[in-house]
Amino acid sequence: MTIERTLSIIKPDGVQKNLIGEVYRRFEQAGLKVIAARMLHLSTAQAEAFYAVHRERPFYRDLVNYMTTGPVIAQVLEGENAIEAHRRIMGATDPKKADPGTIRRDFAASIEENVVHGSDAAETARQEISFFFAQADICPRTR
Ligand code: GDP
Repeated sequence: MTIERTLSIIKPDGVQKNLIGEVYRRFEQAGLKVIAARMLHLSTAQAEAFYAVHRERPFYRDLVNYMTTGPVIAQVLEGENAIEAHRRIMGATDPKKADPGTIRRDFAASIEENVVHGSDAAETARQEISFFFAQADICPRTR
């Protein structure tokens, strides 16, 4: 068992639907701990940079537009196998394929507007955490 950190985002549709508390409740119920959090409205340049890995994909422009339609909340989650645990709580990218009881199955409107983002591997987690947070912004639990 490994204690990991992962980057999580409640996307603009999740914030709009007032799901912040519901999403956090699911993280906490699964034993994941929020160790940093920040609300911001991404600029086009920030959304382009965050999703640069997808820049050749046909949905890239739409994805960037969607991610800039409203504020998001970014958080660092810590816990046992946090990357995989978080992805399980989110569910598959396409809500139609997501398991019952996952955030995306319960709340996502489409494969694009799917409420949450989560890092998919250790290296991307490190990169994505540093995209939103300086080391000093991260608050490891001391009790
Ligand atoms: P994730 O890791 O489950 O978020 O999925 P990906 O990394 O593959 O895609 C990043 C984000 O792009 C997804 O969460 C969706 O918001 C969006 N996306 C993925 N696939 C599609 C698609 O086929 N069409 C559209 N419009 N958006 C997509």
